[in-house]
Parts: sequence; C-alpha cells; structure tokens
Amino acid sequence: MALAPVAGPASTVDGFVRQFLRNLNYERGVPLSAASANDRYFAFAMTVRDYLMARWLEDLRRQRVAQVKGVCYLSAEYLLGRQLDNNLLASGLTSIATTAMAECGIDIEDLRAAEVEPGLGNGGLGRLAACFIDSLATMGVPNIGYGIRYEYGIFRQTFQDGQQIEQPDSWLTMGSPWEFPHPEAAQPVSFGGYTEHYDDEGTERSRWIPAWNVLAIPYNYMVPGYQNGRVNTLRLWSAEATNRFDLRVFNAGDYAEAVRSQTFAENISKVLYPEDSTPQGKELRLQQQYFFVAASIKDFFDHQLAPDFDLANLPDRVIFQLNDTHPVIGVPEFMRVLLDEKKLDWDEAWAITQQCFAYTCHTLLPEALEVWSVDLLGRLLPRHLEIIYRINDEFLDAVRERFGDDEMRLRNMSIISEFPERSVRMAFLATVAGAKVNGVAELHSQLLRDKVLPDFNEFYPGKFTNVTNGITPRRFIRLANPGLSDLITEAIGTGWLTDLERLRELEASAEDPLFREAFASVKAANKRHLNDVLLVRDGFTVSDGHMLDVMVKRLHEYKRQMLKVLHIVTQYESIISGRVAASDIQPRTFIFGAKAAPGYAMAKRIIHLINAVGSVVNDDPRVEGRLKVLFPPNYNVTLAERLIPAADLSEQISLAGKEASGTGNMKFALNGALTIGTDDGANVEIRRLVGDDNFFLFGMSEPEVEALWARGYKPADFYQGDESLRRAIDLIASGAFSGGDKSVFEPIVSNLLYDDRFMVLADYSTYIAAQEKVDAAYADQDAWTHAAILNVARSGFFSSDRSMRDYIDRIWHAQPLR
Ligand SMILES: *Cc1c(COP(=O)(O)O)cnc(C)c1O
Repeated sequence: MALAPVAGPASTVDGFVRQFLRNLNYERGVPLSAASANDRYFAFAMTVRDYLMARWLEDLRRQRVAQVKGVCYLSAEYLLGRQLDNNLLASGLTSIATTAMAECGIDIEDLRAAEVEPGLGNGGLGRLAACFIDSLATMGVPNIGYGIRYEYGIFRQTFQDGQQIEQPDSWLTMGSPWEFPHPEAAQPVSFGGYTEHYDDEGTERSRWIPAWNVLAIPYNYMVPGYQNGRVNTLRLWSAEATNRFDLRVFNAGDYAEAVRSQTFAENISKVLYPEDSTPQGKELRLQQQYFFVAASIKDFFDHQLAPDFDLANLPDRVIFQLNDTHPVIGVPEFMRVLLDEKKLDWDEAWAITQQCFAYTCHTLLPEALEVWSVDLLGRLLPRHLEIIYRINDEFLDAVRERFGDDEMRLRNMSIISEFPERSVRMAFLATVAGAKVNGVAELHSQLLRDKVLPDFNEFYPGKFTNVTNGITPRRFIRLANPGLSDLITEAIGTGWLTDLERLRELEASAEDPLFREAFASVKAANKRHLNDVLLVRDGFTVSDGHMLDVMVKRLHEYKRQMLKVLHIVTQYESIISGRVAASDIQPRTFIFGAKAAPGYAMAKRIIHLINAVGSVVNDDPRVEGRLKVLFPPNYNVTLAERLIPAADLSEQISLAGKEASGTGNMKFALNGALTIGTDDGANVEIRRLVGDDNFFLFGMSEPEVEALWARGYKPADFYQGDESLRRAIDLIASGAFSGGDKSVFEPIVSNLLYDDRFMVLADYSTYIAAQEKVDAAYADQDAWTHAAILNVARSGFFSSDRSMRDYIDRIWHAQPLR
C-alpha cells in the first residue's frame, strides 16, 4: 500500500526544506534565525499539511462527484491526541522530514513536543471516535466526522496536596495549524419560540418560529489515511453570535451589554462537559447537542448532497451513526427538515429516517442513559418535542397492536417517561429510530439485549447487534511503540499495520529465544524512554527491576481504582507489620493516570487517597524502595502513548457487567502487557483470544454479581471474614495516610463498608490471589515475555479497522470509494 511520494513541494529533502522556509517566512513572517519554537512547529506542520492538501482536495472532489453512500459520524467528542506525528506517518514523509529538519539545525523531537493535544473528549468514547475516523480514511471509505470545536477541552489536571485541581485547557491560545475555518459556510442554528400549523393546499403542515439563533462556523481538519493518498474530513462546529456586537448600545456607553448576545451565543461551544458516564442535566449541554447536530444535518443537505438528489434515495446515500445518545436529537431534526422544509409526508419521512440513522450504545449504568425533561425540550426545541410525541404515539400504537393493551409494557417502552418528571428517554428514541442498535463488546451487547432493552429486542428482532470496539494500530502501535513496530516488521514483513490479524504470524517467533530477547529489550528501552518523559514532566522515574503495573483510565467507582489501592495498602501493611520481609516482595511500580469529573466528590477523594498512599509508601524506609506509587497528573492521549508501551501489567478490574467494552485494555495487550482483569467488557474477548495462560482472570462473573446483588450484598461480611482485607481497611481508617486525621478518608471507608454498588470488597480476595500469581509469573522473565508476545500476536482482532469492517458489513453497507 505504500505510496511513492508523488512529485510535490515536500516530497524530497530539498523540497521539504524550501517549503518549510517558505512557510516560516511567508506564513509566520519570521526568518529561521528569529523563529520561536511555535513558529517552527507551525511552519513544519504547514509543510506536512501542504503535502496532504492535494490529496484532500481530490478526495473532496471525488466524493462530491461520486455521490456514493457516505458515513456521517456524529460524536460530541473526538479525543484526537497530537496530530503532527500521525499526519507525518500518514504522508510517509517521516524520514524526509527528519533529514530536512536536521539540515535546518532543528531536532524534530522539539517540534513534536511543541504541539498541544486537542483534548476534545473525556475518555474512551471520544478516543473511539478518533480511532474510527482514522480507520475509515485508511480503508478509503468516504466519511465526515461531525462534532464540536470546544474552545476549552477536557480540563488540565494538577495536584495540590494530593488533591485534583482543574485548570482550563486553552489549547487554542497558540493557534492550530491543522484547522481550516470556513465562516462563509456558516449555518444558522435556531432555538426557542413556538410552532404554527397551517394548511398547505390541503396538507396540514407545521413550521417552527424560533426565538433566537446562533451561527455554527465549520472548522475542517484533515483525516489522512495511512499512506494511501486518501484524506477524509473532520468538521467541528464553533458557535458565534449572529449579531456579535451592538454598536448602538456600545456608543451609548454600555460596553458589557454591547457584547452580551455574543457571550451568550459563544458559550455554546465554550467548554466540553467534563463528565464521563453520567449526564449533566444542563440546558447548555442540550444546546450543544442540538447545535452541532442541526448544523451537521444542514451541512449535509446544503453541501454534500447533489442539488437535484431524489430524497427517497437518501438511505443509499448516507448513514448517520450516533455515537451514544449525545447526537440523538438529530433524529427529530432530520424529520423536521424532511417534513417542514422538504415537504415530505410523515410516513415517507419516517421510513427514510429509520434507514438513515444507527445508534451505538456505550453504557450499562442506568444513570448514564440520558433523559431530557419535556419542559426543557419544549422550551428550547418546541417543534422537535411535537415530532418526538408523534414518533412515540405511532410506536406505542404498533406495540399495542403486537402485544395488546399491556399497560406495564407500554409504560416501560414509552419514549416518554413520567417519573420523576416527564422526560424523553434518548436511548429509546435512538432505538426506535435506528436501523441498527449496537453494543460495543459481546458481553455488553448481550446485556443490552437481555437486561437494558429486552422489550425492544423482542419488538425489533434483528435490530440489535454487536460491534466490538477497536483501536488504531497506526497511533497506538506504530507511533507509540516504534521499537516494537520495527521488531514486528523484521519478523513478519510489512503490511500488518493495515491487516492486524497478520500479527498471528508472530506466534512462531514467540518460540524463538532470540526473538524473545529482542522483544524484552524493546520493553526495557520503552521503560527507559518513559523515564526520560516522566523525569522532565513530573520529576520522578521508575526504578530498575520493577514490574510496571499500570492503571490508566477515567476515575470512576465502577472501574474500581479502589481495588488497586487496597492491593497496594495490603502489601504495604504486610511489610510494616513485619509479617513479610520487604526483600521478599516483587518490586513493583504502580502507575495511576486518571481524571475525575470536577463534580464527582467520591472520585476526587479516591485521587486524594492514591496520592496520599503514594507519599507514605514511597518515603517509608521499611519498604526499601520495593513498592512505588506514581500518579503523573493530566492523563491524556500523549501520556497514554508513552505509558502503555512500557507497561508490564494492565489493570482492567471493573465490576463485571459495568464496563461496556474498554479500549485501554486493547492498547495494552497490543503493546505486550499482560492483563489482570475481570470477565467484563472486551476483557472477555481478549482472554478468549490470548488464552487463559496469558491472562490473569479474577473476580465474580456478571451472573455471579447479579446473584450476590439479589441475595443482598453485605460488604461488612467480607470485611469481617478476611483478615488481610480488614488490616488494609483499618490502616486507611486509622489515618495512616492522612497524618492521623481519620476524617479525611472516612467517606471512602464507609462507602466500601456500607453502600458500595461496585462490590470492591467482594472481589478483593480473588484479586489478591491473582496478584500473587502475577508476582510468581513475573519471576520467570522469559516465560513472561513469551506470554507478552502471545498477547501481541493474538490481539489483531482489536484493530479499529476490523471494527469499521463490522460496521460496514452489518450496519452501514457503505463501500470504499475506488
Ligand atoms: C484509550 C483511552 C481511554 C479509554 O481507556 P479505558 O481504560 O478503556 O477506560 C481514556 N483516555 C485516554 C487518553 C485513552 O487514550
């Protein structure tokens, strides 16, 4: 697939240097001798961009002309990570660019380091969207990703006395070379007002008379495929006031009032909601959702669709994939456009809509299933509420026809719930409207069918399906782990980066002692590289000979960082009580990375506890340096790319039945870390593929969790019945990690003992036992490396290319363009 660089300004070293200097002089307005780090980064990024530009323009043209079925991916989040290295790799320009910069006396590493990562997502869901658009471009499938250009992405985390402090993430202050604003293609987006019904030559029609509107300005970003000459588009919307500034009011002296409407409108794309798994019932959040979805749908009709397109054929032309419920308001918006603007009748519009949308559910936590109060929806989007009511009426009629007047069933299935207040269940709306509904791992999809939406599964046989998540091997293997990538290519040749199942061919290499040695030295080099990064970033390093035990993901009780803390405290307690000699402990460094939602008090307390345990354990001479707890702040994609390739052990320890899929688990396995994990989410599939011998399973299964919950979970029984657990909890409760103050972590202790929904104590003993097996296994380094290689060799299934193929075959029925 490798693309020979076509003649173009940057496809030779000389050409690259000339184009770089040209960009520096003419775009940045500085000579090389006076260029700042940011100037150099910009000029360099622009040079890469210029190289991709011809391909982008060509792809845009071809997609417009071909009018083949395209995928519009609607996602409120894209956690992109840094762009420079990825785009360089996609262009195939890495070595030319490196040489060219060396000729200019510039270290390309400094350029990479100058980029601020756009953190336009919270965690897994946003990163998934970024992996998916990478795969679609690499597969040559026409796609536009639509989302929001938040002025402030996910907050920057720092710690003060071990506690999380949130700083605004002003990723745009230095500008971004990767975005192309198109104010001339702005779309107005309306809100509020009322509806009118009128007679249109015998047909009853409706129209919406909104009260106010804002402008949605598109910013385009390139999404280059991997060395295939293809470039798709990510289009993120930014909000601007329609009349930004009232000169009359300004002249009258009220300066604040003169910009009031501007401030109000521009709030819509100001910040990403720093939430994960739980919706915040905020009016602004609904405004954000409608804002980007309405602009995207209008953009599709105005700019993607040929003017004379027969709307009856829309299902052959587009599929809108809803990444969770955030864009579901797009369903009534699409209906509104077809009914009120395109003048289709209801049945026709609804038949089209039901084929043009598909919905991905990302959760199992009931509190994370988004609902909007009818009161708020009616105020903000009155026409949409009418449409939702009619969709629901017709849906419930159909349910009644099929199952009779079963009031209970009707109430359970209604898109409108009545308690605690009248509201719209967005997941139900998406399920009724979507051609397909998918979960994100086998277990999750099964639970979705059987437990979360069983009535819908019965009513719509065949609508529910599974697409197991994936990750892009370009970013998470090739870029993050060049040492491993080279080793793989040496062993099995090229081609695996776009056909990841080929990693299977490494199974034979696992039996080769020389390969194992080379694999182990790559891991060791990755640890050294991580140390360089951590030393500069945070002032600490991982000691030689330590197993690197990593738990990085959002901080949430269901993910159970507390279980990890209890393991650490158990080991620490066994040393200081003298029951175990420090010298008998397998040296480990525990690394945490996690942001807590600012309003999530328990999660923030757990962060505080992790840091507190770290400062006590790390400084206690009795431990003899054999246990270290490190918590580099501000976990993001850039840090993930450094940490994961260096990890020995991957912690995937959620309560079974709570983690929909996980994608962090896949990144670790593909980088040769062994997993300690529960039978949850995609862990189930990872274990099945890599084999029981190469995975440390522990904990209750999902049916066992349900059974214990039904019997009545009494955490105090586990506490009473397990001496080592009791000692660990008592040590935390004693104030040993809070300078003797028992009150600081008391809420955590009493939560664990009295009302922990996530059953940490129930899985404690099997977790500790599994960790003992980990220690024993790690003692045989060669056997560990063997298992690590098999993890890599057998995890090719988790490429997001495979996820995309599944979506294409089972949901989208789209084709690559030529
Ligand atoms: C992959 C990734 C996640 C998702 O991790 P999980 O362990 O699946 O929750 C979150 N944040 C970042 C920065 C990631 O790269």
